[in-house]
Amino acid sequence: MLIEKYDLEVFTPPCDPGAERYAARARLTTDISEIMPYLNATLDGAVYLKGANALTWKKGRHTIAFHPYEIAISNVENRDGAEKELKGLIDLVNRTWERRADITPDTTTRKRPTPMAIYKLLPNTNCKQCGEQTCYTFALKLAASQKNLAECPSLAEPQYTAQRTGLDSILI
Ligand code: SF4
Repeated sequence: MLIEKYDLEVFTPPCDPGAERYAARARLTTDISEIMPYLNATLDGAVYLKGANALTWKKGRHTIAFHPYEIAISNVENRDGAEKELKGLIDLVNRTWERRADITPDTTTRKRPTPMAIYKLLPNTNCKQCGEQTCYTFALKLAASQKNLAECPSLAEPQYTAQRTGLDSILI
């Protein structure tokens, strides 16, 4: 187990006092730098900055940041949820640490695609089946990891196979 001890803190971000959103951080007694390339290799949408020794990851509406002695999460609806999410992240780090021998570490920095790059590969029919008014709105939400490709049923149609392959490759 990599992380055995930590202090948990849940708070309302100082830039938004009184907001109905919470952030949380776990202060660690262990340096988790070594696990970051393994997390980078396994977490969809992770951005690893080797020079800064930091990794960020969009998980749904949450932004998560891993630092050597800290894991932080933002944009959580309530205190209990923030605490639960953070504990889940600590479990994730420990599970990844246990199976690191089976993972090829990745120290590259992957860039998130822009909404326009995503939009260009969508069917552009504005059919609304994904629940959005336009394909561009869907692209914005894909870029922010608030939607996933499976929510656009049109992409399963044979004429969009090439676009789907392209989207799969840029949205890793
Ligand atoms: S379901 Fe797909 S094609 Fe239809 S509006 Fe949404 S993104 Fe566009």
